[in-house]
Amino acid sequence: MTVDKSAALPPGSVIGIMGGGQLGRMIAMAAYQLGYRCAIFCESDKDPAAQVCDTVVATPYNDPDALARFADLVDVVTFEFENIPADAADWLTRHALVRPSAKILEVSQDRIVEKSFLNDHGIGTAPWVEISDADTLTAAAARIDEGAVFKTARFGYDGKGQAMVRSPQDLSAAWEETGRVRAVLEGFVDFACEVSVIVARGPDGAMECFDVVENRHANHILDITIAPAEISPETSESALATACAVAEALDLTGLLAIEMFVTRDGGILINEIAPRPHNSGHWTIDACVTSQFEQMVRAVCGLPLGSPARHSNAIMRNLIGDSANRWHEWLEAPQTKLHLYGKAEARPGRKMGHMTRLYDRGPWKPGAVDTALKGWV
Ligand code: AMP
Repeated sequence: MTVDKSAALPPGSVIGIMGGGQLGRMIAMAAYQLGYRCAIFCESDKDPAAQVCDTVVATPYNDPDALARFADLVDVVTFEFENIPADAADWLTRHALVRPSAKILEVSQDRIVEKSFLNDHGIGTAPWVEISDADTLTAAAARIDEGAVFKTARFGYDGKGQAMVRSPQDLSAAWEETGRVRAVLEGFVDFACEVSVIVARGPDGAMECFDVVENRHANHILDITIAPAEISPETSESALATACAVAEALDLTGLLAIEMFVTRDGGILINEIAPRPHNSGHWTIDACVTSQFEQMVRAVCGLPLGSPARHSNAIMRNLIGDSANRWHEWLEAPQTKLHLYGKAEARPGRKMGHMTRLYDRGPWKPGAVDTALKGWV
C-alpha cells in the first residue's frame, strides 16, 4: 500500500485500534462523534472497546491472517496500549499507515531503551542502572543508598514488576522473583508530587498540551488526578516544555502521556512515557474543550488539533473493583460525571470506571484542593 502521509483522513474513514480496553473504547466514542468508524483488534469480542465498534477482530495479537484482514479494513492503525508485540507492529508498519510509529512503541515498551533515549536527548530521569546479568546486579547493589526502586525493563504497569529495595539481599530477591529478566535499579526520588502532561502532535508537527495535572496513587494504581496541579508557574512551564521536547525527539504523530516527578526544588524528572491516551487525562472529557481522546483522533487522522483549554477545574477518581457497584450513589453526587467501562466482573484492582467532579475555573484558591478532596464521597 502506498500512503500519502500529508493527506488528512476525512470523516467516514476507518480507524483501526489495537487493544480492546477502556482507552480503546473512549478513543472509539470520540471517533464516532466526529463521523469516523472504528475497527478493534483485541483478544475478546466482550472487551470494553469491542462493545462500541462496528468491526471487531478478536484473536491473539500474533495471528498473521487476522493482522492482514485488519490492515485491509482500516485507513490508519493506532494503539490503546504500548505492549503490542514488536512483530505485529512491524508487520502493520509495512502494510498500513501506523500512528504513532512502531519506533515509538519500541522506546516506550522497555524502560532501558526509554531512559537511554530520554537521557541521550538531555532529558532528566531518576538516576538508574541496568541489570542484565550477575555482574550488573553486583554493580547495581553497590549503588543502593537509603533506598532504591527495582523495576523490570518490560511489561510493568500499576506497580507490577516493581519492588522497593534497601539492601543487596532485597535486590537479589527481587531479581530472582522476576526470573532474572532485564531490569533497572532506580534511585528513590523524594518527590514533592507526581504530575503528568499529555501532549498531542500532528503529522505537520503542530503540538498542543493539556494542563499539567497532579496524580495521587493508592496501592500502586492511580487513585486521583487533580486538574490543574497546584505547582508554580515555572514548574508547570518546565513540565510542558519537557513534554514538547520528548514529542519532538520521538517525531510523534498522535498522543503522548508523560509521567513526571516534581522534585522538592521544583525540578522535573520523567518517570515514564506512554504513546496513547492516559488514565490521568480522563478528566479532559468533561473539563476541556477537546478531550484527550478526540485530540488523539485529530492527530492520527491529520486534522487540525483542537483547543485543549480547561473550562473547569476537575478532580478525577478511578473506580476500582467493587467501588463501581456504588454507581447509583455516584450518579447522585453533585457536579459529577460518571463513566463506566462495561466490564462484567469487578475484580479487585480492576479499573471499572471513573468519575470526574467539576469545580470553578482558574487556579485553585489556597486550600481549595484539600476542601474538594474532603468533600469527595
Ligand atoms: P511506575 O510503574 O514507574 O509508574 O511507578 C509506579 C509508582 O511508583 C510511581 O507513580 C511512583 O509513585 C512510585 N515510584 C516509581 N519509581 C519511583 C522512584 N524512582 N522514586 C520514588 N517513587 C517511585
